Amino acid sequence: MQLCHTTIHTFTTKPWSIDQCIEGYARHGFGGISVWREHIAGKNLAHVRQKIRDSGLQGTSLVRGGFFTSHTEEGRKAAIVENQKAIMEAEELGLPMVVLVCGATPGQIPSENYVQIERGIEEILPFAEAAGIRLAVEPLHPMYAGDRSAVCSMKDANDLVERLSHPLLGVALDVYHVWWELNLLEEIERCADESRLFAFHVCDFKPDMNHVLLDRGLPGEGICNVGIIDQWVKQAGFCGHTEVEIFSQRYWDMDQDEFLKKIAISLQPLADPVLD
Ligand code: ZN
Repeated sequence: MQLCHTTIHTFTTKPWSIDQCIEGYARHGFGGISVWREHIAGKNLAHVRQKIRDSGLQGTSLVRGGFFTSHTEEGRKAAIVENQKAIMEAEELGLPMVVLVCGATPGQIPSENYVQIERGIEEILPFAEAAGIRLAVEPLHPMYAGDRSAVCSMKDANDLVERLSHPLLGVALDVYHVWWELNLLEEIERCADESRLFAFHVCDFKPDMNHVLLDRGLPGEGICNVGIIDQWVKQAGFCGHTEVEIFSQRYWDMDQDEFLKKIAISLQPLADPVLD
């Protein structure tokens, strides 16, 4: 795949500042950037926007909103305010999309979390509409069902966005989270057919991971069959960027330029999008 069709998430190169990320991704020939809110905390957003524009990178998404669940009404209201803020930041940065990690509160059963998520998304849709920002629900692997997201599969995510049915609401597919689904191809096609497949994230799932969050692999290092899922996504008509999102202490400990070179090599077997 040509690197111009790929986006790097700033959390992938966590040791770098936002300026280093922008310069580094452009220098290595990648096509886009997805900005994590951690990287722009306290920054002048207009400057960051200008810097992204000057670099020639496409701004792909802001990561992340969501976390709608809470034991208390107050907590759920605070989440709406935080999401509203994220939507405004995306608008200020010129990023067309906010990725939603939907949340799960320990002590609440999954269905309770799921209902709160659905209500939360319903409440923020008008803000997204006013700003013209797309919202992408990212289902997470079930190992995070108790504390990060009650939306755990492409099926859950498709059901949710179909019920809420809004042109600005879609799904972010991350191979790490949904590779295990028996009907993954059908769920990808279902999502793409309704024009709701908004984002495609790659990394890999290592069955011998040494940390539940921070030991993801490069595409090809694990058991996701990234190449097969990549083909399914592109054959279903997805023509956006392939986004690299790797959390890995092992790779953060190395020189980040060397890491980006490894990423570029790992992406070579993947397909270019079919562009009109
Ligand atoms: Zn992701």
